Amino acid sequence: MKIGCPTEIKPQEFRVGLTPNAAREAVGHGHEVIVQKGAGTGAGFVDEDYTAAGARLAETAAEIFAEAEMIVKVKEPQAVERTMLREGQLLFTYLHLAPDPAQTQDLLASGCTAIAYETVTDERGGLPLLAPMSEVAGRLAPQMGAWTLQKANGGRGVLMGGVPGVGPARVLVIGGGVVGTHAARIAAGMGADVTVLDRSLPRLRYLDDVFGGTFGTGYSSAGLLAEHLEQADMVIGAVLIPGAEAPKLVKRADFGSMKPGAALVDVAIDQGGCFETSRATTHADPIYDVDGIMHYCVANMPGAVARTSTIALGNATMPYMLALADKGWKQACADDPHLLNGLNVHAGKLTYFAVGQAQGIDV
Ligand code: NAD
Repeated sequence: MKIGCPTEIKPQEFRVGLTPNAAREAVGHGHEVIVQKGAGTGAGFVDEDYTAAGARLAETAAEIFAEAEMIVKVKEPQAVERTMLREGQLLFTYLHLAPDPAQTQDLLASGCTAIAYETVTDERGGLPLLAPMSEVAGRLAPQMGAWTLQKANGGRGVLMGGVPGVGPARVLVIGGGVVGTHAARIAAGMGADVTVLDRSLPRLRYLDDVFGGTFGTGYSSAGLLAEHLEQADMVIGAVLIPGAEAPKLVKRADFGSMKPGAALVDVAIDQGGCFETSRATTHADPIYDVDGIMHYCVANMPGAVARTSTIALGNATMPYMLALADKGWKQACADDPHLLNGLNVHAGKLTYFAVGQAQGIDV
């Protein structure tokens, strides 16, 4: 199969759909890989890394869209890319179609077959192509929160690990899923005093079994949350209610009893945020102040560490990309119902129920 990887064109997107190692694997399976010149630059891969892996370089995205049978990307195709998609072409990338009717209509009109990373499932009910980005965002959250806590950034001026004779920062993580667990591990590793709140007792049991001693756990009730908020130097928001907007668990009215200069890191901002005062920010201007409480609410946190994120995403997508290329999408999806769950659009028809429901389209 001819596999094409264009340069990402969404603003501030530095990741790339194929790593040189993924390209090498595909070439090893007998496929032809075409990569746009400069596609890997933002993630620290030069064109020679791809040619050494056996890929061919193309000057423009148009050449890739014209030639490739499968397009492998990171972000949803932008309007100009959607005009280049064609009937029978396979698109494998993040789509997030539910809130995006314009993209949905363009994909339907193109006649392409689109498999969305974010709806591919695994046998444990997880989302294996979303998990690596949650791992990255979770591990990054205490790092960005520690920076936000610095005095020059408007923060409380507290060092995560303290020093001998001075206690550590108190970090509260709300939501103990993928993001929250990774955030808690790193915050504890930096020497902070960490507590994770979750609503799922099985999850709390798991965290206590595996990490008991490294950080504390608590059942996420309004009362316990209020107690911890008063003590916290940093609060990391990591809740998710699948398919729904994040619940606003911390209200502006709570700020009066919090420590001045405390840092809020709202990782759940891509689902609307779990703090009432959250609004999405960018890497260029990441933090803002509400009533003396500093907010960090970057919606695409993994972009800050594009190289790590690209490799982590590539590790997760590679087996699916190879199955699609080796067998064709029909056989690959017939063999793997979890990959079939990724199918969102085929030949002018929407094939994913939740997207149809969100947009009033028959599936
Ligand atoms: P997850 O499903 O693994 O974990 C969510 C956890 O929240 C679950 O354990 C659930 O029990 C818990 N929860 C639900 N309601 C709660 C409540 N009221 N109190 C406490 N806990 C509650 O999800 P995840 O992969 O960890 O993702 C968390 C959020 O981070 C999602 O909104 C996701 O989209 C977002 N995210 C953002 C970025 C970014 O760059 N900003 C990157 C990756 C993920």
